[in-house]
Amino acid sequence: MTDVIKTISEVKSRLDDYRRQAGKKVALVPTMGFFHVGHLSLMRTARQDCGLVVVSIFVNPAQFAPTEDLEAYPRDLARDLELAGRENIDLVFSPDPAEMYPEGFDTYIDPSHINDTLCGQGRPGHFRGVATIVAKLFNIISPDRAYFGQKDAQQAAVIRRMVKDLDYDIDIRVCPIVREFDGLAMSSRNAYLTADERAQAPVLHQALLAAREAVAHGERDASKIRRLMRRTIGQNYLVEFEYARIVDPETMESVAVLDREALAAVAATVGKARLIDNLMIAP
Ligand code: AMP
Repeated sequence: MTDVIKTISEVKSRLDDYRRQAGKKVALVPTMGFFHVGHLSLMRTARQDCGLVVVSIFVNPAQFAPTEDLEAYPRDLARDLELAGRENIDLVFSPDPAEMYPEGFDTYIDPSHINDTLCGQGRPGHFRGVATIVAKLFNIISPDRAYFGQKDAQQAAVIRRMVKDLDYDIDIRVCPIVREFDGLAMSSRNAYLTADERAQAPVLHQALLAAREAVAHGERDASKIRRLMRRTIGQNYLVEFEYARIVDPETMESVAVLDREALAAVAATVGKARLIDNLMIAP
């Protein structure tokens, strides 16, 4: 089983020791735990690339609105440590909220423009919380590389932008989406789904495939492709549509005409689970 460290000072001193001893490249994989194969794929890539792999597990209160599922978010630290051990992870950093946000905490990183679309609209304050915690983890761990999933494409774009804007010398790697057998993107929140909801949840992926298919058949009008995705998702009575967009993969700004590669992104609520998915589509 992998060692778990709870305090910032201990994780810093352990990492300093490792760096001095071995001159190894340090990888960071930030997560909220309750591991699935999507998380493990990030760990495996990091393990192949770097001499020392740190995984953080922290359900970050700052990225949840008061109406969201912070309390209910699934957690199982013992199982996660077991799985991290099997992936040969060197260190798991799993601080308590008071360690990361002590009394008096008052400074946040606030992405501006990139926050105005997609999940930023439906979840005000979410990316402020994400950018703040990732910046703190970057400062604590000082990784050479950090690994994120394409599943949270806007999050990856926010982090890439932050790294440029704030001059972090960290290489950001974005790993492909890992899916269930029927196309549903793996997510810790899939645990909320009832059997009926689980049966309808792959419709997000199906809507993205329909978009790709339409583009393959010559459709270039993004508003028509958006409507197609919306119609596909809307056919399922347990699925509450939130958005379907075609955006620039770097800036997340809407694209009107598909004259270059773009990202199709969708979000919907299925029962208690807010689900997101995306797919690159090229003309
Ligand atoms: P989370 O614990 O949900 O915050 O996710 C931690 C990291 O794993 C993030 O960088 C996610 O984008 C990534 N991730 C989550 N689900 C998947 C998936 N199905 N495939 C690939 N990466 C994922």
